[in-house]
Amino acid sequence: MQSRRLPATLPNVVRYLVLLKVSGRANYIDAIERYFVRIESPSAIEEKLGIPKTVVKGVTQYVRELFRSTGAPPSDERIKQVLEMVLPRIGAVNEAFSWCDASYVRCRICGARVRFTDFEDHIRRCHSNVVDEIASEIVRDIVSEAMRK
Ligand SMILES: [Zn+2]
Repeated sequence: MQSRRLPATLPNVVRYLVLLKVSGRANYIDAIERYFVRIESPSAIEEKLGIPKTVVKGVTQYVRELFRSTGAPPSDERIKQVLEMVLPRIGAVNEAFSWCDASYVRCRICGARVRFTDFEDHIRRCHSNVVDEIASEIVRDIVSEAMRK
């Protein structure tokens, strides 16, 4: 049973954030937090994190789309409330690679040597089950906490 306080699209949002974290994109998660929780502008985020503001806009727009189930997307205030529950738990998720050199990483799940820029895609293609497992655990945790309140 899902609490009324949580959006039905929560699992999609959590899965995306887990994918980013596992793939070593913690800076994107930082950008998402700055944009929705601390209400910073894409230009301010570009300046602080060195992520081009077009990328910041793309990533945050994608998050907004993930929150949308049917009809209008939820307000930014609603997204903020949900992210405040989700993000601390994403912080505890580990990256699934170690660096081989400046460009290549080794996957901790299967041992493959992959270019870092292709690693998110590698996780998406080969290890979506791992992302799903971690995401389900986080969603269960959030739902049980929300139901206690
Ligand atoms: Zn792998």
